Amino acid sequence: MNQALESLLRIVYPADCSLCSKTLELTENALCRHCALTLEKKRFPLLESLGEHDKTGIWDEAWALFPYEAPVKNLLKAAKLGARPWILKVFEPVLSDFFEAVLSSLSVYDVLVPIPQGRRAWIERGFNPAEKIAFMLARHGIACAPDVLVKRGRVLSQRSLRKEERLANPWGAFKMMRPEAAAGRRVLVIDDILTTGATAEEACRLIREAGAEKIGVLTLARTQSASRVTTTQGDPA
Ligand SMILES: [Zn+2]
Repeated sequence: MNQALESLLRIVYPADCSLCSKTLELTENALCRHCALTLEKKRFPLLESLGEHDKTGIWDEAWALFPYEAPVKNLLKAAKLGARPWILKVFEPVLSDFFEAVLSSLSVYDVLVPIPQGRRAWIERGFNPAEKIAFMLARHGIACAPDVLVKRGRVLSQRSLRKEERLANPWGAFKMMRPEAAAGRRVLVIDDILTTGATAEEACRLIREAGAEKIGVLTLARTQSASRVTTTQGDPA
C-alpha cells in the first residue's frame, strides 16, 4: 500500500501491536518497536539447519528460522486461532533475509510447495499458514505450487494424538496431485511449525517419489526437540 495512504488510514483506524496490543506509531508495522526487537533477538542464525534431523536422507537440507516459543508461538497462535492471516506479515523481513542469504545464491530452488492442511483447519482459520509463508517467499521470484499435495480426509487431527500416534499417523496423510510439478525439479517444502518432523517427512517422501531432483524444507519455527527426533524415537518430547 502507498505509504501516504497507509498513514492516513492509521489516523482513522489506529492499528495495535500484534503482540502487546499497544497502539502503533505511524512508522511501526504490525509490531511495536519493542516487540519487533524481541522477535528479532529470537532469530536463529540464517544458515542454521535442523541438525540431526538433516541426516535422515529424506530431504537434502532444511532450515528453521525461529524456535517455536514466545513471541513466535504467540504470533502464530494469534494468527491461526483468531483467523488473522495478516499477522504473519511480521515475518516478511526474515523471509526476505533468508531469500537473500540462502535461496538467491547458496541453494537455489525452482518451486515452493507448502504443506497442505485439512478441511477442518481451513474452515477454522480460513487460510493455510504454510501457504501464506510460501507466497511471501514467492514474491522474490520463485514459483509457488500449493496444489501439488492435498491432505487426505479422515486423518485424525495431530493435536488429539499422543506422540507415538502422531509419528505413525501422517503415513498416507497426503496425496500427490501433480507429480509433474516436482519431477526433475528442486523443490522447497514450506511449513509453519516443525515438531516431530513426521508431517514434513511424509510430504518429502511423496515429492521424492515424483522424481524431484533436490528437496529442501523451510519451516518458520521448530520445537526444541525437533532436531533430535529421529534419534530419540519413542522418547516423549
Ligand atoms: Zn508490542
